[in-house]
Amino acid sequence: MRAGRDGVFFRLVFIGLCLLSPLALGSTDFGKQLEQADGLRSADPKKFEQLLQELDANAANATADQLEQLRYLQAYRLAYSGQYNLAIQKASAIFEQSRNVALRYRAGLLMINSYAVTRDFGAGFAYLDKILLLQDKIVDRKLRHDGLLVATVLYNQVGQYELGKHYAEQILADNPEPRSRCFANNMLLEAYFNLKSWPVDDSEIDSMINSCSEHGEILLANGSRAFLARKWLGEGDAGKAVGLLEKYLQETEATGYPRLISEFHSFLAEYKLQSGNLAEAERHANIAVKQSASIPFSKSLVVGEKTLYEIAVRRGDASSALAHYKKYAEADKAYLTDVKARELAYQLVKHETLQKNQTIALLNKKNQVLQLEQMVAKQKAHYGALLVILLAALLAIIILWAYRTKRMQMAFRRLAETDTLTGISNRDHFTKNVEQALGEAAKKSEQLGLIMFDLDNFKSINDRYGHSAGDWVLKKVTEAIRPVCRKQDCIGRIGGEEFAILLRSSDLESAASMAERFREHIANINTAETGNTFTATASFGVTTTLISGYTFDTLLSQADQALYQSKREGRNRVSRYGEQKSGANIHQEVTPGP
Ligand code: GH3
Ligand code: MG
Ligand code: MG
Repeated sequence: MRAGRDGVFFRLVFIGLCLLSPLALGSTDFGKQLEQADGLRSADPKKFEQLLQELDANAANATADQLEQLRYLQAYRLAYSGQYNLAIQKASAIFEQSRNVALRYRAGLLMINSYAVTRDFGAGFAYLDKILLLQDKIVDRKLRHDGLLVATVLYNQVGQYELGKHYAEQILADNPEPRSRCFANNMLLEAYFNLKSWPVDDSEIDSMINSCSEHGEILLANGSRAFLARKWLGEGDAGKAVGLLEKYLQETEATGYPRLISEFHSFLAEYKLQSGNLAEAERHANIAVKQSASIPFSKSLVVGEKTLYEIAVRRGDASSALAHYKKYAEADKAYLTDVKARELAYQLVKHETLQKNQTIALLNKKNQVLQLEQMVAKQKAHYGALLVILLAALLAIIILWAYRTKRMQMAFRRLAETDTLTGISNRDHFTKNVEQALGEAAKKSEQLGLIMFDLDNFKSINDRYGHSAGDWVLKKVTEAIRPVCRKQDCIGRIGGEEFAILLRSSDLESAASMAERFREHIANINTAETGNTFTATASFGVTTTLISGYTFDTLLSQADQALYQSKREGRNRVSRYGEQKSGANIHQEVTPGP
């Protein structure tokens, strides 16, 4: 036979819990009335009902918070009047919607109690899990202990005594109020008894029970005594066990609590039968059966009917024996079915929770995979972007490098092509340009002119006014020619103080007149800037491709010959190759100096 006690205290817990932890309410009239109703819930059900009706009527004056608390009291009233399903509905709305954690917690407890009373342990455990999650947020210690009490009662109810013990110990470790302590101790004794493990000795159990009595918890004290008696019975000390129960039988009967009364009597009936006192056994068994009448699934009823059956057998009363045996079998079946149902409900919830947790774990894993995938994608994108930036930076560097290299190359080339003093083409570059132009012109039979000039007596300018004055003259000569020179014409410094100019589309006449303009510009250079006044002149030689052909060397050589003709003829003049002295081109030679 099962040793459990078919949830003796469950209704007690239900009523008791609702006495604990009153609502924290506002100071308005409505709030005070709510508070009063909450305090009177079980102490004065009539007054409570009356107050609740008044509160219902004045609900229009309530704040949103007060309305929620009123709804809780309404749910409590429904449960108290046995309308558990309606109570659950109302409390569930509060549990799901309220933002007041303590009120949600209370509503949850009310639901669990209602589910337990209606034997819907599955739903009870589901809500137990939910309220235990809120546990850390409950500031009110008493309320917190109420939740733990529900847990310990529920676990004991389904035969999970280790868990029942665990939650009872949690309460006891948290400095509970005497009532909560007494409750927790009672649950702890139930767990010890069913686990067949007593880590406490009799004197400790005595002090637990006495502390309950001292605080007026007679019902709980005697409930605990029933465990102590069973402990002693188990230890072979039946006399001591019976003595204890007999001593407190009257006190227990005075509580008017049928479950405990029937339990005491069923215990005594069983013992009296064993000791052969059939009359006493019958008396106790009958009371046990009578008291159990209002209790569904009572172990005491099973024991009572079984005792009556055995008494009838001993007396040889076959018909009575059969009648009691039938009742015994029915009660036993109902009781066992209930025990099984409770245990099954717990296993189902445990299984569901396990499955839920596994599903959650699986979902978490899936989420992790998704997150990792996202991270990889992000990183890919990140690295992609980084790569693009790197490539762009690299490209920019390459472009910059190429640009700078190009500029350097160009600068070097310019440096290589240019005469540093005057900034015009040096001999090599001039030669190259002229050779290219000659080639192109030859194809088109275009006539090109070549002017060559050499500064006159330049050595004496250097000698008289210094080398820097000579340099200055060279620069000024270039500046003087440049404006006259057409853009497409090439100008080059082909020796120290020798220059040459290639003229595009030019005959001898126009080349000579251009040379004449150059000569004038040079002769007109104002040398005052050097601190000395002197005249710089140049002697010119002119030829064209028509006369000298398209070969550079010939062209240059024949222009040079014309130039030397100008030197010979007195300097500061223009000579055309192939022409003898022309009056128009003869100028008086000017020697530098003041
Ligand atoms: P001529 O009229 O016959 O040409 O007489 P000239 O003195 O000009 O000719 P010469 O060939 O005797 O002297 C050329 C001088 O030009 C010699 C040289 O010192 C000078 N010279 C050459 N290059 C430079 C230069 O870059 N700067 C300066 N200041 N003088 C230069
Ligand atoms: Mg010279
Ligand atoms: Mg000269």
